[in-house]
Amino acid sequence: MSGTTVPTVLHVLPHPGGGGEEYVRLLEKMEGFRFERMFLTRSMSPREAVLSVPGLSRRARDFDLVHVHGDSAAIVCLPALRRRPTVLATHGLSLLRRSHGVRGRLVRRALAAAVARSAATICTSQAEHDELRAVGGGADKLHRILNAVEIPDQADADDRGADRRVLDLEPSDVAVLWAGALQPNKDPLTFARAVADTGPPLVGLVAGEGSMRAELERTAAPNLRMLGHRDDLDRVLRASDAFVTTSEREGLPLTVLEAMARALPEQGTVIMLGGDILGIDLAYNLVDTGHRVILVPHEQSFWPHKVDAAERPRLFEALRGAGIEVVGEAPIERIEAGEEGAPARRVLLADGVELAGDVIMPFYGLAPALDFIAGSGVDIERGLLVNPELRTTDPHIWAAGDVCQIWSAEDNAYRFYYGWQNVKAMGEIAACNMTGANDSFRTFVDETLSVNGEGKLHSSFWDYD
Ligand SMILES: Cc1cc2nc3c(=O)[nH]c(=O)nc-3n(C[C@H](O)[C@H](O)[C@H](O)COP(=O)(O)OP(=O)(O)OC[C@H]3O[C@@H](n4cnc5c(N)ncnc54)[C@H](O)[C@@H]3O)c2cc1C
Repeated sequence: MSGTTVPTVLHVLPHPGGGGEEYVRLLEKMEGFRFERMFLTRSMSPREAVLSVPGLSRRARDFDLVHVHGDSAAIVCLPALRRRPTVLATHGLSLLRRSHGVRGRLVRRALAAAVARSAATICTSQAEHDELRAVGGGADKLHRILNAVEIPDQADADDRGADRRVLDLEPSDVAVLWAGALQPNKDPLTFARAVADTGPPLVGLVAGEGSMRAELERTAAPNLRMLGHRDDLDRVLRASDAFVTTSEREGLPLTVLEAMARALPEQGTVIMLGGDILGIDLAYNLVDTGHRVILVPHEQSFWPHKVDAAERPRLFEALRGAGIEVVGEAPIERIEAGEEGAPARRVLLADGVELAGDVIMPFYGLAPALDFIAGSGVDIERGLLVNPELRTTDPHIWAAGDVCQIWSAEDNAYRFYYGWQNVKAMGEIAACNMTGANDSFRTFVDETLSVNGEGKLHSSFWDYD
């Protein structure tokens, strides 16, 4: 024991910086503990990391708990910590996910041993939990504790204006932020190329340092700005209009959580456009979590349910009863940035109504991406047109899934059939028909939208788990 009544924790990080250190900073806010940090290497050198292990095992003796961050650190140092209770946290399983073949097998074996050796292994996402379970080492050791961030105060639009000026952003610029270490697994080059291809008024902001800086600078896109390492990322986020991540591997990225928390503050307002059945489900949740939701209706409201015009007022009334504000059906004229001192976005309707909100969410039904088949001669409309046997207008091509618009004699139109049960049935039918059968698709899915006894809307699609 450390000889003090305050429990002591040694955080072992592979290197300074990055999400791991931010994670530790948040943990260190817990009262009633004494924390110290140790880095296995300051120069990202594997040799330096291995050489630091004897020093680590000596230092660890003075702590009640050792908390090791990341799979590579776990493999390097857990065997040396036999006499200390040790917690392992995953942070993206970067080594495991990039190791294949013989190296992959060795890493899996070493990681399974590290998990078995730990008192507990914290998985920061469900995906990491599932992957580590498959690696072995003891499912009872694995605990799924999702990452979290501090929720910022209500966005102050005055500050946002000042933050944009500091970054030389014009009011008409659309600032898109990328933040992270400039290294291959984060793939900042894809972001830089997309920024260059899109051109102004989009301005790409890159916050971070790393080995790929020179390569990024060589893209020489005039609308790409390299901000370097920022201690005020919160302000850069506030100044930005959107956040983008391009990572090949992540745990549950803190930057994404921070961007989301910044976009929609506590008690903030969402302007929902259209309001298909996915959106309405979300709207209920947003109201339950204390947010304000304003719904701008559209003919796609309630998609994929087919709703008669006469039926719509009753359904909108049910939404109002649940606290969702439904405005009139005037078309949208413009969407623009909010004025200083007001929420970030404004929606102007043709009847003169102006709506202010922190976030705008369009929900106009799913629209499949058809670029891959456009120009091939196969007929498309909003989806890929198929007959009830799921054959496209090219007799050698069948299709299944959300991408299909299937001919319905009953509706005398091509229509979408939403939901995983339909999609699964389509896959089976298309496969059988390709191999000589002649089955027709018919939905078995209940498509009812109703208002229950308590006046609450209920969609049959919400029954699926
Ligand atoms: C937010 C949300 C919530 C949902 N909730 C429910 C629910 O509760 N219940 C329910 O039943 N259904 C739900 N659905 C619908 C359900 O997820 C879909 O019906 C189902 O996933 C469709 O399966 P699919 O295989 O056709 O398409 P997808 O699952 O979309 O798969 C298509 C795949 O093709 C890839 N792809 C696209 N273009 C190309 C290309 N050119 N080259 C290579 N790959 C390409 C895509 O990246 C994707 O991986 C939900 C959908 C969404 C978006």
